[in-house]
Amino acid sequence: MSVFKSYKTTCSYCGVGCGIIAKKDPKGAITVEGDPDHPVNRGMLCSKGMNLHHVVQDKSDRILYPEMRWSKGHERQRVSWDQALDRATSVFDTIIKKYGPDSVGFYVSGQCLTEEYYLVNKLTKGFIGTNNIDTNSRLCMSSAVVGYKQALGEDSVPISYEDIELADCFMIAGANPAWCHPILFRRIEAHKERKPNTKIIVVDPRKTPSCDIADLHLQIFPGTDVILYNAIAKRLIDRKKIDKQFITNHTDDFEKLKTTLQSVSLSDSAKACGVTVADIKKAATYIADAKGFITLWAMGLNQSSIGVNKNNALLNLSLLTGHIGKPGSGPFSLTGQPNAMGGREVGGMANLLAAHRDLGNDEHRREVANFWGGKEISPKPGYTATEMFDALENGKLKAVWIICTNPLVSLPNSNKVEKALQNAKFVVVQDISHRAETLEFADLVLPAAGWAEKEGTMTNSERRITYLNKVVDPPGEALPDVEILWKFAQRMGYKGFDYTSAEEVYKEHCRLTKGTSIDVSGLSYSRLKMEGSFQWPVPESNHSGTPRLFEDKKFYTDTGNAKFIVPKFNKPTSELLTEKHPLILTTGRVRDQWHTRTKTGKVNKLITHIPDPYLEINQVDAFLRKLKDGDIAVVESRRGKVQVKVKVSDNIGKGVVFLPMHWGKVMGNDYGRANNLTTDILDPISKEPDFKYSAVQVSKFVKS
Ligand code: SF4
Repeated sequence: MSVFKSYKTTCSYCGVGCGIIAKKDPKGAITVEGDPDHPVNRGMLCSKGMNLHHVVQDKSDRILYPEMRWSKGHERQRVSWDQALDRATSVFDTIIKKYGPDSVGFYVSGQCLTEEYYLVNKLTKGFIGTNNIDTNSRLCMSSAVVGYKQALGEDSVPISYEDIELADCFMIAGANPAWCHPILFRRIEAHKERKPNTKIIVVDPRKTPSCDIADLHLQIFPGTDVILYNAIAKRLIDRKKIDKQFITNHTDDFEKLKTTLQSVSLSDSAKACGVTVADIKKAATYIADAKGFITLWAMGLNQSSIGVNKNNALLNLSLLTGHIGKPGSGPFSLTGQPNAMGGREVGGMANLLAAHRDLGNDEHRREVANFWGGKEISPKPGYTATEMFDALENGKLKAVWIICTNPLVSLPNSNKVEKALQNAKFVVVQDISHRAETLEFADLVLPAAGWAEKEGTMTNSERRITYLNKVVDPPGEALPDVEILWKFAQRMGYKGFDYTSAEEVYKEHCRLTKGTSIDVSGLSYSRLKMEGSFQWPVPESNHSGTPRLFEDKKFYTDTGNAKFIVPKFNKPTSELLTEKHPLILTTGRVRDQWHTRTKTGKVNKLITHIPDPYLEINQVDAFLRKLKDGDIAVVESRRGKVQVKVKVSDNIGKGVVFLPMHWGKVMGNDYGRANNLTTDILDPISKEPDFKYSAVQVSKFVKS
């Protein structure tokens, strides 16, 4: 008999959501392996997933007990949970009474479990009385949320991973799944190996490892995505390669789009994008010939000052060709975090309400407020991620509670974020690791339980909800995040927070979804434990989940039809390039690092892949600056400067440079810290930052 005890759980890195079997030996040591029965990964794991156990095994960096600063300028000291929560309660209560509920805010994470996300939203919107609750998912997928809502009526990802094996054309747009969603990419790769006629189009200003399987790489200039997709749409319409029946019966506003696209010229579009007319035509032909067409996209589209427009333009290609609500077809945004989707389900953003209800809808607000039994919910959207830190800087927001995220490194314009945190009256950081640089500014530090140390649920990119087992006890005095939140709420005197388990929170969340498009009232912890994962909606206890939406061609819009949204031809809204700052900086991820490296940065096997930050620069731009591979360059934007090692490469076009986003302070200085440079210009609707387009100059570092 094995001395190991096995627990089924889910990887806590990317939104692919791979199933994991965690094995615990009698001494409590964990190892992990891919779950062969899990429908997502079928036993496979990528390098990050394979090394997930090190994150909990190595406790050297863990926050073990609450720490508190008695006043600004003093060192933090170890305190008891009672002292910590009493202080949080007293400060929040005082600030709310003096300045009103909008003077406090919560900034959370797509790594929070659904139960945690639900509870912090209930606490903030339903009881404190402010909508100042936002998440780092704002930085990665809020443009996709708006795009879906506008075109399909709700924020609903239509398809499943099982559609991958049924498609014969993929457009991977502004994403590098080979590195950022490796197991999903492996499925596409395997499908192409089995069916070599499958066409893969990659749209990316960089030649990334995802291009290795591409039939066509459209290496566009950053920011020209809308022009490209409109040109492809125009070509499809002109060649009558559209699904007229679907358009007539199930969509609105086709004529508007067609009229707008009349002025589009393929040659002008090709020139603007930096590709050839032949390649635009080839892309249109691949799409037109496909029986199953999937678009996959991520940050390259979303993280833009016109992120919503980019989403609209790409979604139009699926609607024009009728590739939605049928096998092997559909638009498919990829979530970067393990539970960004779960956060969307509970309305975990400053402008959303639980279960896809609208904050601007009086009836929806009343419904949720009555269910919670707290205060009236304000119709005023709260501060979004970057707005929250702007408000700390200008003093409108006095206190912020940060959960499971490291904004000092991940938000754009780090120097501004640093000033905001310095200016805050009170900063709470609830996290697992001392590696999070934001801790430097925390007045109160609360030790949280990490992956495998608590139970709960998450939803992956394809709407699949899985249960995460608790495998080991958290170290020291760390507590599950739900417990910290309900203890705080109880101390604040709020009713309805007398939970004793995460399961009770989950049940309440499920009840609130009843009758909505994401109804999961038929899904209990016991079903998840016994039967495995399910894709929402799951409205009855005998319902087997919903792998594909819109098979009945009924969309969530007022008319029941999907809607063509005409992308606006705005003048450029990204930062202007000038003689002083002539290059476009785009940022992204490397294969074995995750976010701000608070977890992956301590795993030796992951560090070896790419141990240090680097600047990818085209040969011509490097030559003009007398830079060689391995030289140290200075990269300067309007906001700051960093030094970093140069990697000269043909994989990036002239006029564009790339920096990975993971690194904060390296050896105590700002070496390679990308977000010292990035602009905090936002998409006006989604409020997602323009991480893919900051104006910079690069020069050779000269020792003074
Ligand atoms: Fe984890 Fe994503 Fe890798 Fe799967 S693909 S093992 S979810 S990091």
